[in-house]
Amino acid sequence: MCEICRSYPCHPRCPNYIPPKASHYCSICKEGIYDGEEYIENDYGKYAHWDCVNYGRDLIKFLGYEINTMEDE
Ligand SMILES: [Zn+2]
Ligand SMILES: [Zn+2]
Repeated sequence: MCEICRSYPCHPRCPNYIPPKASHYCSICKEGIYDGEEYIENDYGKYAHWDCVNYGRDLIKFLGYEINTMEDE
């Protein structure tokens, strides 16, 4: 049991708290992608939370496409 927060595992606000290690990190918010969280992977092997790319523009950027504006010639 932790001496500071007197709980095990530590309370997330305890200075001894160690966030669970994520095997993959979101390339958008830089947070870990933990069990039970939805994510997508792009062609370059990058990962992102589904919540983080659930906005058309960010999704397109994440997938490596450029956002172009069609202009009359
Ligand atoms: Zn603690
Ligand atoms: Zn994210």
